[in-house]
Amino acid sequence: EGPMSVQELASLVRRSEAEIIKILFFKGIAATINQTLEVETIELVAKELGITVETAQHKAEATKVTEMLESSDLDHLQRRPPVVTIMGHVDHGKTSLLDAIRNTKVAQGEAGGITQHIGAYHVDVEYNGEKHQVVFLDTPGHEAFTAMRARGARVTDIAVLVVAADDGVQPQTIEAISHAKAAKVPIIVAINKIDKESAQPERVKQELTEYGLVPEEWGGDTIMVPVSALQQQNLDTLLEMILLVAEVEDLYANPDRPAKGTVIEAHLDRARGPVATLLVQNGTLRVGDILVAGACFGKVRAMIDDRGQRVEAATPSFAVEVLGLADVPAAGDEFEVLSDEKAARALAEERAAAQRQSRLAQAAAARRVSLTSLS
Ligand code: GDP
Ligand code: MG
Repeated sequence: EGPMSVQELASLVRRSEAEIIKILFFKGIAATINQTLEVETIELVAKELGITVETAQHKAEATKVTEMLESSDLDHLQRRPPVVTIMGHVDHGKTSLLDAIRNTKVAQGEAGGITQHIGAYHVDVEYNGEKHQVVFLDTPGHEAFTAMRARGARVTDIAVLVVAADDGVQPQTIEAISHAKAAKVPIIVAINKIDKESAQPERVKQELTEYGLVPEEWGGDTIMVPVSALQQQNLDTLLEMILLVAEVEDLYANPDRPAKGTVIEAHLDRARGPVATLLVQNGTLRVGDILVAGACFGKVRAMIDDRGQRVEAATPSFAVEVLGLADVPAAGDEFEVLSDEKAARALAEERAAAQRQSRLAQAAAARRVSLTSLS
């Protein structure tokens, strides 16, 4: 099911409208009878009532994830690093946490030295005596996540929910929880700003239980790590917990095949032309590859990693900035490498034509509506 009004939802679940509004109220959402509720909100209500909802989005997401892997990959599967998104209410410390992890983990003076902002970065973490990697998406969490989800892209394996210990659960905290739940992405809570005098981490835990996140020490299954981004406290524990969750998530891909994945961000650079950050989700992307990203054709001219280094290849879960696209794709577009240049051009052209067509249809529909309202 898609979005529906409070009234429609009430009749669907055979409850009074007042009851639905009351549930929403306790979730911190002020709603009126005729208000249209988003799928995530409906899910919150349904959960409260002990009902599970099957949404069109769920189905789309489930297929997308499996689409990245094909049966021919099964004999070549290798573990891949987790791709992590940081979410949470404004000012709770998302940017600070991303920066703190990056600064402590990406050694200064490392090859290249300058860290490059390409919309994603990776860190190396010692875990169980082995070296592992964690990839963080640093596209402005919320919006990017929502935009990509709207396109059916599933790019994150784990969501780190940042909640400020002195401010507790806030509207965007709740939104983040429902987004992650709808996408079936496991949540790790980082209770941030524990250095503050006014910090009340236990209260944050209590508040989170109302949204189905119960800390492990209270018998639940949500990992909650108290941290301070500002004082770089407990960041190693957070990274270890991410790897722990990654371990049970079965993150595999087949590096021995042409790459496919998702566009994380893209823009037109005056000097370099279209520049896109591509997250490789299966296969290996190489310089010289021919690809189609959304409706754009391209031939990979150069790839630059998050440390500003030119690289020849990018394996699953890694993001690279790619030069050589003929156009600027949209964030959330999927990309794939094709062996045949002609076929790739034709596919890109076909998709571009389809996009023009649907834009024209929308414009025509809008005109009809305005003509009707005039007459
Ligand atoms: P964002 O909106 O979630 O990205 O939040 P920011 O990272 O921009 O942080 C918002 C404010 O909180 C800034 O003034 C940060 O300096 C401050 N802040 C972030 N993390 C901490 C922390 O661990 N401790 C304290 N005391 N302040 C923090
Ligand atoms: Mg920020």
